[in-house]
Amino acid sequence: MTTPPGPSHVSVVGAGAMGAGIAQVAAMAGHPVTLVDAVTGAAEDGVARIIAGLQRLEAKGRIDSARLEAVAQALSTVTHVAELPPSAVVVEAVREDLGVKQQLFAELAAHQPADTILASNTSSLDITAIAEAVPDPARVLGLHFFNPPPVMRLVEVVRGAHTSDTVVTTATELMTAWGKTPVRCASTPGFIVNRVARPFYGEAQRLLMAGVADAATLDEALRRAGFRMGPLELTDLIGQDVNLAVGTSVWEQTDHDPRYEPTAVQRDLVAAGRLGRKTGEGIYRYAADGTMRDAVPDERRLEELVGGPVETDPVARTVAMLVNEAVDLVHRGEATADDVDTAMRLGTNYPRGPLEWGAEIGYAVVAEQLATLDRAFPGGRYRPSPALAARVDL
Ligand code: NAD
Repeated sequence: MTTPPGPSHVSVVGAGAMGAGIAQVAAMAGHPVTLVDAVTGAAEDGVARIIAGLQRLEAKGRIDSARLEAVAQALSTVTHVAELPPSAVVVEAVREDLGVKQQLFAELAAHQPADTILASNTSSLDITAIAEAVPDPARVLGLHFFNPPPVMRLVEVVRGAHTSDTVVTTATELMTAWGKTPVRCASTPGFIVNRVARPFYGEAQRLLMAGVADAATLDEALRRAGFRMGPLELTDLIGQDVNLAVGTSVWEQTDHDPRYEPTAVQRDLVAAGRLGRKTGEGIYRYAADGTMRDAVPDERRLEELVGGPVETDPVARTVAMLVNEAVDLVHRGEATADDVDTAMRLGTNYPRGPLEWGAEIGYAVVAEQLATLDRAFPGGRYRPSPALAARVDL
């Protein structure tokens, strides 16, 4: 499988869940795409998975055979990074390890033309740190796709400290051409989605630990507020270990800011191997067919809590914290209000963007709710962002 290199060639390094998905997106957008993986045969397996997925779409009549054939023709593999053809962009989707990524970027910089954009799909590493391995860090940025890349529309276009404006603009336009909805942000811990979403999980876990309500009741409260899933059932689906790792990474990268401190309940679950659906038990217990057991909300408790004091209202408390987080990100100039709202709607399926939600509730109301929480639970977790405290109308 070889494809002659061309100006629009795209290369993808790492043919796992994300790499293969990104290669599919690029090939379907009309690029010749070359995949490479460190493990022998993994790139070919990635191509085979893409084609098998497209064959299923063809069987359902969602694509025709000519399209399937064109995408299959566009995909090629090589066995070493040095063999990748000169590419307009290389997207890296290898193991989440700074040393591994730096070594790879150094190699890419040595073998690709000077104007090739070098992009990382990292979920949690600092783009500026990855770019340190490259003589010209202006060409490095993050293109954070969501899983599965062919389905999820959102891509966070992440600017490192040295990324050039041209590279950000070109990559943003490319994502639009690939049928994605790009949002731009600085290389801040967790970028937009993984940062702003932290309190969605953290508040429910704290309410659970405090014995305010059981898990089923807390989840039901958030579902009724318009969230597709409750925060606790969602962490069981994501995997408690995976969710804890993201939370811990943001907490560590923010010098242990109490706003992101992981909870004892989640650490205990992980230590006990109760990782969620994949182990049959997490916050909930699951039957062999994956259905959830003992998940009946307590209607009376729900009525008492929602609309009651903010300290024990799972919805008001969670939404206030989401708004605070979003306001803070915008206030620090790390993303625009529109991009934060778009990212949260598309990346997490929130019913409303947090800034839109804050405006609806009223920023002064949210600031007051946070001040109440800060008095009830001192320590800094609930401190309002300076922008909120000043009741800045965003
Ligand atoms: P994965 O384990 O499914 O795939 C990683 C692939 O990279 C493997 O096939 C592995 O053999 C290969 N690899 C490892 N080191 C390599 C190297 N030096 N050179 C070439 N290939 C190498 O992982 P994944 O879930 O696809 O994640 C890949 C990246 O995408 C990570 O940085 C992850 O943080 C990020 N990400 C993952 C998700 C997700 O939901 N899985 C979402 C967004 C971003």
